[in-house]
Amino acid sequence: MIPGPFSYHRPATVADAVKLLAGFGDEGRALAGGHSLVPMMKLRLASPAHLIDLHGIAALKGIRRDGGAVVIGAMTTQHELLASGEIAQSLPILHEAALLIADPQVRYRGTIGGNVANGDPGNDMPALMLTLGARYRLEGPGGEREVMASEFYQGAYFTALEPGEILTSISIPVPAAGHGYAYEKLKRKVGDYATAAAAVVLTMAAGKVAACAIGLTNLSETPLLASDAARAVIGTSLDTASLKNAAAAAAAIMSPASDARGPVEYRKHVGGIMVMRALQRAASRAA
Ligand code: FAD
Repeated sequence: MIPGPFSYHRPATVADAVKLLAGFGDEGRALAGGHSLVPMMKLRLASPAHLIDLHGIAALKGIRRDGGAVVIGAMTTQHELLASGEIAQSLPILHEAALLIADPQVRYRGTIGGNVANGDPGNDMPALMLTLGARYRLEGPGGEREVMASEFYQGAYFTALEPGEILTSISIPVPAAGHGYAYEKLKRKVGDYATAAAAVVLTMAAGKVAACAIGLTNLSETPLLASDAARAVIGTSLDTASLKNAAAAAAAIMSPASDARGPVEYRKHVGGIMVMRALQRAASRAA
């Protein structure tokens, strides 16, 4: 339960953080809220020789509107997301999901950047980023680039981040006015990671689904965008048959681990139920 020895660095700019990370290579690791990394270090599942703390970099903080998108700095905490009027108004599904992450103590420290960059299939924010069509801004020794969230996740704890790169911000297109949304998360107890969770963002027109996106959490090594499931409900009034079609299409792409949260078949089954519940609740909220 005691981490290995490490040196602590606190750069004041993104450029300095990138320089340190690139210089240390595999020996260096960015530190954000520390609520995923420090437990891993205590268990000796990670033993970085150098921690590069991002807290001193003001440019990584904040939430701002940029035309049709909301831009969130990587070091914005989950608590700050919950306190933001802009998030509550423009991206209410983020507010709903952030409230389901752990407990207030974790949310005060845990950042959105750490949550999406970690590549942990159990983290809630990545599936939301896929559902919302988010883009990640990365900065490294080779300069800046943008990666769609849908192209970022390559395996458990394996992402598109190159050595020396850090995530600086996330840009999320604001869904259409009157959209419906829901994040349904089944967990064993308050503060737990998802056994299965589904995010839905949709628009309705004349009682039928006009557009829909569905994301899945902890039902594979990576977050999933359930495109066939979303297609199964477009043009329907979410009758029982179309809900079941969506659940079956979503289950077809799930490959959860069999672990303390349940065996594979159980998790796929409840994953389908999360999809159906999220669709119904999102539709009930749509204008
Ligand atoms: P850190 O732990 O500091 O970093 C995590 C990883 O991301 C590290 O590898 C780090 O190098 C890397 N990293 C961090 N920031 C950047 C960056 N800007 N650029 C590049 N790499 C970066 N999360 C959920 O989603 N749902 C839950 O239900 C949940 N339950 C939890 C329960 C407990 C008891 C605890 C302790 C944590 C829980 N978490 C949960 C995780 C929590 O949300 C973490 O805070 C979050 O996943 C990681 O964010 P962090 O800021 O703490 O990152």
